[in-house]
Amino acid sequence: MTEDISASFSLTQLSHKLKTGELSSEQLVTHCLNRIDKYDQPVNAFITVTGEQALSEAKQADRRRRQGDPRPLLGIPIAHKDLFCTQGTLTSCGSRMLANFVAPYDATVVNRCRAAGLISLGKTNMDEFAMGCSNETSFFGPVNNPWDMARTAGGSSGGSAAAVAADLVPVATASDTGGSIRLPAAFCGRTGFKPTYGRISRYGMVAFASSLDQAGVIAREVEDIAQMLNCLVGHDKRDSTSSRMPWTDPLPLMQKGCQKMRIGIPVALLDRLDGDCRKSFETAVAVLQELDAELVDIELPHAHYGVAIYHVIAPAEASANLSRYDGVRYGHRCDSPKDLEDLYIRSRTEGFGFEVKRRILTGTYVLSAGYADAYYRRAQSIRRLIRDDFEKAFDRVQLVATPTTIGPAFKKGEKLQDPVAMYQQDAFTVLANLAGLPCISTPAPPVAGLPYGLHLQARPFDEISLLQAGHALQQHTQWHRQTPETAT
Ligand code: GLN
Repeated sequence: MTEDISASFSLTQLSHKLKTGELSSEQLVTHCLNRIDKYDQPVNAFITVTGEQALSEAKQADRRRRQGDPRPLLGIPIAHKDLFCTQGTLTSCGSRMLANFVAPYDATVVNRCRAAGLISLGKTNMDEFAMGCSNETSFFGPVNNPWDMARTAGGSSGGSAAAVAADLVPVATASDTGGSIRLPAAFCGRTGFKPTYGRISRYGMVAFASSLDQAGVIAREVEDIAQMLNCLVGHDKRDSTSSRMPWTDPLPLMQKGCQKMRIGIPVALLDRLDGDCRKSFETAVAVLQELDAELVDIELPHAHYGVAIYHVIAPAEASANLSRYDGVRYGHRCDSPKDLEDLYIRSRTEGFGFEVKRRILTGTYVLSAGYADAYYRRAQSIRRLIRDDFEKAFDRVQLVATPTTIGPAFKKGEKLQDPVAMYQQDAFTVLANLAGLPCISTPAPPVAGLPYGLHLQARPFDEISLLQAGHALQQHTQWHRQTPETAT
C-alpha cells in the first residue's frame, strides 16, 4: 500500500485518488510522515516537521471531502521552504540569526496553499538567507543529495528539492534569486519552476535581493507545477511588485505541446560544457525537435557577464535587506551587551554565518561612495543589456534552451573554499532573474548516473509556453520519473 502511494506521487494522481476515496488524506499524510521519519535523518531536508498539526488537518480535510468539498488539492501534503513565514512555527531562513523566530503571520504563499486545502508537513532546509548553490551554508547542516549522500542537493532550496526527490512530500515551495529553485531541482532530478518576477507574491518571504527574488515550486511533473501555479499566482495588494497580469488556467492548454515552437539555443554559451553534459542537453532538445519544435541558433552577447553582475546586484540588495537584523527588533541577540554598538556588532557577528557576512561586506562595498558608479551602476547597465539580448532573441523564438547547470551535483565540500567556482554554478540560471523571465528546469538524461536538467526560459508572463513544452517532453520521456535508490 505505502509503496503504491509513492509510485503515484503526482498531484493529479493523488488528487484523483482522494476524490474517488481510494486514498484518504490521513493515509497520505501518515505515509509521508513515516517516510520523513525513515529518510529525513540522512537527507536533512527538513528543519521543522509539524506532524501532529498535519494529521489533524488531514482528518479535517477528509471530513470536508466527504461533505463534497471539490478543491482539487484538498488534503495533499506540501512542505514550505523555511523562508516563508508561518504563523506559530519556526521560520529560520537557515540562519542562527532567526533560529528563534516564530512569525506572527503567514506569507501569502503559505496562505494560498492553505486556502487550496494543501496540508503543510513542515519547513525545509536551505542555504542561510538563500545564499548559496549547495545548501552547505545552512545553520542546520547541509542537505544531502538522495541520489548520492556524499553530494550536495544543490541550493539554496536544497531541502525542498531533496524532500520531493526522496518522495517525502509530493510538492514543495521554494524561492529563486539566481537559480535556487532550478539548480537543486536539476541536481535532484525533479521539476522546478520560477515564474515571471511579480507573478507570485513575495509578502512574508524573507527578503534576500528584492529585485530578483521570486517564489516558485518544485514537484515531480509539469502538470503538478501547473496546478500549484493556479493556487499561487495572483495579485497581492501587500506586495507592491506583485503583478496584475491576468492568469489563465494552463491545465486545459497543456496538451498543445511544442508543435511549431521555435526554441533558441545560445550556442556560444554551451562551449564550457563537458561532453557528457552536452550530450544530455542535445538528447533532451532532440526530443523537443521530434515533437515538432524548431531549434534555432541564437546569440545572447552579454550573457557571460551574468554571474559577475549578479554578484554585485544581489549582495548590494542583500546588504540593505539584512540591515534589519540588528539584535533589537527580532532574531538573535547577544548576551549582556555593553552598549548599543556592542549589541549590533556582537548580535550580527554571532547571528550570521560566513557566506552571509561575505555578501553583506561585498554589498556595502559596491554601494559605498566612490564605488557605486564603478560597480553597482555599471552592473545595472549591463543587467539592462542582458534583458535587451533576451528581448531581441524573443523576436525570433518562443523559448530559450540551455542546460540548467554546468554539471551534475558535485561533492560536498568540493567548492566551499572556492567561492568563484561555486558562483559559476549559476551561469545559466541567473540570467532569468536579471531579466525577470519565467523558466523551468526539467530532467534531462542522467550524467554519470546523476540527474541533470534542461532549462527553458520564456518571455515575461509566457509561463504557458514553458508548461506546454515541458509537459510534452515529460509525456515522451521517463527522466523525471526516476527515484533515487536510497529512498526506496
Ligand atoms: N546561488 C545563488 C546565490 O548564491 C542564488 C541563490 C538563490 O537563488 N537564492 O546567491
